[in-house]
Amino acid sequence: MTTEQHTFTAEVQEILNLMVHSLYSQKDIFLRELISNSSDALDRLRVEGHSDPALVPEGELEIRLEVDAEARTLSISDNGIGMSRGEVVENIGTIARSGSREFLSALRQKQAGEQDAATADLIGQFGVGFYSTFMVAERVSLVTRRAGTDEALRWESTGDGTYSLDPADRAYAGTTITLHLKPTDEEDGLRDYTDQFVLREIVKKHSDFVAHPIRMKVEREEPVLDNAGNPVEGVLPKKVVEDETLNSMKAIWIRSKSEVSAEEYHEFYRLVSHDWQDPLATIPAAMEGAFNARILLYIPSKAPFDLYHRERVTKSVQLYVKRVHIMDDWKALLPEWLRFLKGVIDCEDLSLNVSREILQHDRQVKAIRSFAVKKTLEAIDRLKRDEPEKMRELWREFGAVLKEGLAAAEDDYRDRLLGVTLAASTVGDELTSLDDYLARMKPDQEAIYFLVGNSLDAIRQSPLLESFAKRGLEVLLFTDPVDEFWLEREPSYKDKKLVSISKGEIDLGETPEDADGEDASPPPALDGLLQALRTYLQDDVKDVRVSGRLTDSPVCLVGDANDLSPQLEQMMRQLGQDPPKTKRILEINSTHPFIGKLSELEAGNAPTSALEIYARMLYGQAILAEGGTLPDPGAYSRVLMDVAQLAVGVAPSSSEPSGPATDANDNDSATTDEPSTAPPSDA
Ligand code: ADP
Repeated sequence: MTTEQHTFTAEVQEILNLMVHSLYSQKDIFLRELISNSSDALDRLRVEGHSDPALVPEGELEIRLEVDAEARTLSISDNGIGMSRGEVVENIGTIARSGSREFLSALRQKQAGEQDAATADLIGQFGVGFYSTFMVAERVSLVTRRAGTDEALRWESTGDGTYSLDPADRAYAGTTITLHLKPTDEEDGLRDYTDQFVLREIVKKHSDFVAHPIRMKVEREEPVLDNAGNPVEGVLPKKVVEDETLNSMKAIWIRSKSEVSAEEYHEFYRLVSHDWQDPLATIPAAMEGAFNARILLYIPSKAPFDLYHRERVTKSVQLYVKRVHIMDDWKALLPEWLRFLKGVIDCEDLSLNVSREILQHDRQVKAIRSFAVKKTLEAIDRLKRDEPEKMRELWREFGAVLKEGLAAAEDDYRDRLLGVTLAASTVGDELTSLDDYLARMKPDQEAIYFLVGNSLDAIRQSPLLESFAKRGLEVLLFTDPVDEFWLEREPSYKDKKLVSISKGEIDLGETPEDADGEDASPPPALDGLLQALRTYLQDDVKDVRVSGRLTDSPVCLVGDANDLSPQLEQMMRQLGQDPPKTKRILEINSTHPFIGKLSELEAGNAPTSALEIYARMLYGQAILAEGGTLPDPGAYSRVLMDVAQLAVGVAPSSSEPSGPATDANDNDSATTDEPSTAPPSDA
């Protein structure tokens, strides 16, 4: 049996290096990290034990601390699930955890000079799991045996870039981690971790509500008693060693809100979420009546990296039955659009053997699920009302996920969700709520207007906004992919319909200036131009019409009320679907001087090639103006060159522009009688 030497991945080496040289003063937290790993391992054993009872040990599931003051070691053991060889290499040698990854990426963003302080700060924020042991130990060994196997393994490292693996002996499944402690150095935050008082205090502070007993052998002195039960004088007390359970295990979610401090709630959050930043909101609640349950849910302050990999969202909400951890599967307990929540749901009246299948159909679970959703929405409402800055933070992190609830057909929470929905707007730079929009709305305004696009920068420039701006009408701006889906359902909020300004015909009536009588020249007759544009662009658009929504730009693209938007079409293609290509409608601004001029050109029998070039230019311009992507940028750059050549009086190089053949005399030269648009070429 030989020792194998392995090298840590570069990222782990980086973290280890930081841990070994850490200036972080709260070194005690290593213990809570190890205890919390052990507690997870016990939970997992219990869960796997449901389907394979042979895995569960006869004795109690527990976590044990053991010290050897002379050898200066501290060990933490559990009789949990243990790890196979593959799992050890995967979990302890590489960087599996999101927390560590975020830790490193946050650290790398700091300037070199700030790094020491930043490391300390970030260890506090993220915790770094198992690796934090190297803050207090010069050597760490881990002996583990996966439940259901008889192979045990010893992992050992000094945190210097490599670790060794050896076969080992271990009588039962579980894991023991032994720390060979660095010398005590109180100034440096290194306390004596072989001292039972120190350990007791740390466990009480950080791990009191771990649901498994954390035990330690403690020594105490007991007076020697006589037959009457009185201490015998002159006889030294005897030393008794006995087991002490260091944590109260009192499920924090069972206690009433008034009994629990914010700090305790946050500490529990760290335990269940492995996130070391404080949550944005804590939601404790009790459901009483036909069914009884307690919930303690948290809204984290940052979205986890796997938020959009639904299958992989882990450590969301855990199901307990009468204080016993049953499973991690949040899917029966919460709708998908609340998958970012962390915490615990404890049901009083379910069977301990409840299975995933039963959960999905159980009436009680349905009722508890509604309760949890209701309480969460109430908490978000409160944030919106009392802490607008936090509310915006929540929306930036989780708004897109919450809006999945607006898109989901089966959910009855749409009104409540609309009530907390925030959006960017043409008024101000802050996110705004629909209620604030309604409050600012013009007295006779009938709808809540919105525009969807790929990015805020792009849609803020959209020509579609022009006439709304001119009339002082606010438009909400949406840029998340999910917005297409829920807004397509044409929701209403407080009796006002949400109306897309990029679809259907919009007639906003006269602008204030028009009403004053200025600028009110009637639109020129544009029929000829419209017809010509329809012909030239017949492959690209389904109609060309006069716009009711433009004031400054010459053209824009819009859809029919029931058309797929270009974003939705693109998204469906990305999802592997093949929606029919939706042609859009080109709207022209009848008051724009260029359009007027073009109409005159058309009426004066200008050469078709010049008109077609302008038509193509306008179409491309409409795509660019809304931040869209040109289908063929090369062809468009040739169109622009043609336009430029027309402007300086040189014949366009491609006198037959790419595109549909026209019924007019093709291959017309650009020579024209109209010098202002296309001076005679010298060709
Ligand atoms: P985290 O616990 O946040 O995932 P760690 O670095 O502390 O990160 O641990 C990495 C992984 O190692 C854990 O996710 C778990 O799979 C495994 N692990 C750690 N300690 C134990 C243990 N006592 N028993 C079983 N597995 C463990």
